[in-house]
Amino acid sequence: MSYERVNYDPTFKPVQGIYENRLRQFINNGGDYKDLNLPKFYDYKRISLDRNHVKVYWYQVPFEKNSSPVSPDKRPPWSEVIGNDKAGKIYWQEASINQPFGPSWSTTWFKVELHIPKDWMLNENDQLVFDWDCSNEGVVIDPNTLNPKTAFSGGDRTEYLLPKADDGKYFFYVETGNNGMFGCGEGSDINPPNDNRYFHLKKADIVLPDWEARALYIDFWMVSDAARELPGDSWQKHQARTICNKVMDIFDPKDRSSVKRCRNLLKNEYFDKYVDSADVYRHGNEDILTDVYGMGNCHIDTAWLWPFAETRRKIVRSWSSQCTLMEEYPEYQFVASQAQQFKWLLEDHPRFFKECLIPKFQQNQFFPIGGSWVENDTNMPGSEALARQFFFGQRFFLKHFGSKSTVFWLPDTFGYSSQVPQLCQLSGIDKFLTQKLSWNNINSFPHSTFNWAGLDGTQLLTHMPPGNTYTADSHFGDVLRTAKQNKTSEYYGSGLMLYGKGDGGGGPTREMLEKMRRIRSMSNRNGNVVPKLEVGKTIEEFYDDILARTDNGKDLPTWSGELYFEFHRGTYTSQANTKRLMRFSEIKIHDLEWIATKTSMLFPDQYIYPAKEINDLWENILLCQFHDVLPGSCIEIVYKHEALPMLQAVIEKCADLIIEALKVLKNNSKSQNIKPIKTLVWSDSDSAFVSSVEESAVKVTEASEYITLSNEKLKVMISKQSGSITSIIDLDTEVEYLDLKNGRNKHGANQFVIFDDKPLSWQAWDTELYSVNQYTYLNKAETVVISENSKDKASVKVIIPVEEGCKIITTISLSATLNSNKDDSFIDIHTHVDNWNARNKFLKVEFPVKVRSDFASYETQFGITRRPTHYNTSWDVAKFEVCSHKFADYSEYNKGVSIFNDSKFGFSTHGNLMRLSILRSPKAPDAHADMGSHDIRYAIYPHAGALSSTTVRLAHEFNYIHRYEVPATIYDSFDQVIKITGDSNVVLSNIKRGEDDVDINSNYAIGQHEKRSMIVRVYESLGGDSSVVLKTSLPIKKVVKVDNLENEIEVVTFTSNSKTSTAEIPINLNAFEVASYKLCV
Ligand SMILES: [Zn+2]
Repeated sequence: MSYERVNYDPTFKPVQGIYENRLRQFINNGGDYKDLNLPKFYDYKRISLDRNHVKVYWYQVPFEKNSSPVSPDKRPPWSEVIGNDKAGKIYWQEASINQPFGPSWSTTWFKVELHIPKDWMLNENDQLVFDWDCSNEGVVIDPNTLNPKTAFSGGDRTEYLLPKADDGKYFFYVETGNNGMFGCGEGSDINPPNDNRYFHLKKADIVLPDWEARALYIDFWMVSDAARELPGDSWQKHQARTICNKVMDIFDPKDRSSVKRCRNLLKNEYFDKYVDSADVYRHGNEDILTDVYGMGNCHIDTAWLWPFAETRRKIVRSWSSQCTLMEEYPEYQFVASQAQQFKWLLEDHPRFFKECLIPKFQQNQFFPIGGSWVENDTNMPGSEALARQFFFGQRFFLKHFGSKSTVFWLPDTFGYSSQVPQLCQLSGIDKFLTQKLSWNNINSFPHSTFNWAGLDGTQLLTHMPPGNTYTADSHFGDVLRTAKQNKTSEYYGSGLMLYGKGDGGGGPTREMLEKMRRIRSMSNRNGNVVPKLEVGKTIEEFYDDILARTDNGKDLPTWSGELYFEFHRGTYTSQANTKRLMRFSEIKIHDLEWIATKTSMLFPDQYIYPAKEINDLWENILLCQFHDVLPGSCIEIVYKHEALPMLQAVIEKCADLIIEALKVLKNNSKSQNIKPIKTLVWSDSDSAFVSSVEESAVKVTEASEYITLSNEKLKVMISKQSGSITSIIDLDTEVEYLDLKNGRNKHGANQFVIFDDKPLSWQAWDTELYSVNQYTYLNKAETVVISENSKDKASVKVIIPVEEGCKIITTISLSATLNSNKDDSFIDIHTHVDNWNARNKFLKVEFPVKVRSDFASYETQFGITRRPTHYNTSWDVAKFEVCSHKFADYSEYNKGVSIFNDSKFGFSTHGNLMRLSILRSPKAPDAHADMGSHDIRYAIYPHAGALSSTTVRLAHEFNYIHRYEVPATIYDSFDQVIKITGDSNVVLSNIKRGEDDVDINSNYAIGQHEKRSMIVRVYESLGGDSSVVLKTSLPIKKVVKVDNLENEIEVVTFTSNSKTSTAEIPINLNAFEVASYKLCV
């Protein structure tokens, strides 16, 4: 080489912007130069539907006129349709391009016959493709095995790689559901669906692709992305641009062989030699740490813009595609959550489950993950339900895969209760994944990798993918963002990239896997300006890497308490009926387990605990706690045709099963005398209902402006003008609990307010900060009258007009008190909202109280969460609406006020104002959400001193109102099956039978088998070390403390008192500890 002395050919420095912009031309499938660029060569051959080589026949599955969108006739089993076809019972018609299929939610089947033309002269290695786009969701079914092969949804998922066929002939079915990946929304996906939508057949082609040209497309795409997205000071960026320009220079649209030359150039100058295989991940500099771990997933919302019925089909479409992809890409790994989805798959497609999915699980490519029944909401499920999410999820995984998940997988749920870490750890889970907090609309969550410590201090190793999505497309930019946006890099710099089409299912595509090989190859070749991407490491290995590099997590920052989601605050209130039935279902199944457990322990020869029935009921409750169903963000179909009937049926079935158990008790008594029982026991009070009032009556007096209710403890004044409560006085101390002098509410308590509720977007999900200051008080009552005036109870009925046709009828009652427990006295309110017909309004009810404290307490699962009542920082401001269970309490040192409710979850406390959220009226995605009439019960409980166990007990009793009767002769033995004494802040919340007991024959049994046992769940409710003694009359032989899966933690010593024939089990609990004991007889 020699340097020329004279320059005859001057060269210019390329102008970066122009040379970068030029790159878009090369792979642009539209535009002016498509034929002059690479798209010209993507296919060697292509034949569209021609009735000669490509024949497509269609069959619209008939359904009853007006049958519901979830009716079984809309989605018959595959075996039925194919069986009918084989029997010649189906009339198929020839399909044509642009033909419409529908309507929404119906099913169309296609029969596809392909004859590859002889003149295609295929080589042995030629891979043919069937290219199909009907813009709805479809799945290819092998007519011989009935196993699914791959799925279509238009867009990025249109290709089926045809298996080899020596005779060039193909025949298969395509089942299509007439909905898009995101349902049938009109205008926008999250608008209410159009039930009369049709989907057009756009493409049915056989293709012999030029795989070399298609590979160059991915090569060029990734390197040109590097040219665009790498930092400006890196030589890698400039070289990527230069090489891509060279590729365009040597490409010749008249010469297909130039494609190979282009590829070689990229391989020689920017990729390593392993770019086309999984080997690429085994090369590169081993000393460089991995920046990004790629993990395939497809988030399938168990219901959202489509019903549960359609989800069952999304599962098989999504997962079969992934199993097929795994054949082609050995490095490919995929995680799938939600035991419910596996259960549906097992029911609908057992052969696919066994023959395709299980082998991929065994080959370490398909991983069940999550450990919960569904990806549930964590704010609103009750205590026991949240525990059972893990109980059923993990037991299902153990039963069908032989292992449980150690990662709680919840990428999309709307906030995370502070009780999650403890329940996870009690269920064999010590790791957590989410990313939803990246949607916060006020504060940016500060960590990517951290320890999340819950209510009792239990922690989970937590990772939030720094790319802020669980549906990455594996673009170069996705990998780059995952590497660059990591907020905890000083401790741990690697991050997970969750790739794959999601929300409506789908999952990764071939293209994504190809792109990732290119990205890894670039970093092997060009050093770590291109992030080092790893594919083929499990989620477990990723979390192990965190532990290995952070001194077992000790180096990581800690976040204590709930992971409050600063968004979607309307979901505590939307879809009131579903939330109400959910609370009622949880209580009813608690009662069923309470009565059935006791009955089966007392009369084992006469009564078999209905384990299978109870488990079925739990599955339905847990299903409806999916993170769009219970929060209220689904389309109307889901509530009207699925969730509400399902929960209603749960309540009815529980009632039937309770009657059966009570019958057994009745049969064991000759006496006709009966006695009511409660289904909760307390250490500080009797468990019997008090049926008569021996003490002073309640009084009601009416003056010109007020009606006054009073009992031994409280005097309550109600304005005859506004109907609201203007004074609540403790007659013992003469303390006034309301504050009408200060703050914005000067009207009174039980004061209804209508807020404007027009969020920026996401109507069913969101209520926004500005709504808080746009409100109208409903302070002109139409009627205020005494509606009940008996010795036991006095009530005032108030009627308040809202808008045209809508009224609120609210009844304020005070009951007589026993002298012995007059401190339990509270004001009971029943509100009927008649014909709620608002548009984008939010109805709340306010209680201005004479309390001042920086914090209010809200009941959460097995405990309380304290939240600010001020707006000091933006983090405090963000909590302008929060989630509460059965009570919210606002207390200062000397006194406080608790508000109980029977079915509500939205609450706020600021300044001197407590506010219960009652009804919203979003118009999307359900146009009729919450329209109609509603009943709500709540209560005002003024109390001396700070928040105490009395609030906890009264709020429980306010909800557990069902009365059951047992024969008087059996009452004592029934009562003594389980009792509790000691610290009153410890709650005995649930009893159930041991799942692995021999006599109950549970469908979830897996462990060691006891003859008969009873699980007793207790928890410390207010935050303090406590001691109690459990007492039982059962002849117990052994007591063990168990975890939430009912595995033994330790043996517990107990004493037997032969005189009273009871056993006593002393227990110590840490603050907010949830503990379970198995009492074995
Ligand atoms: Zn989701």
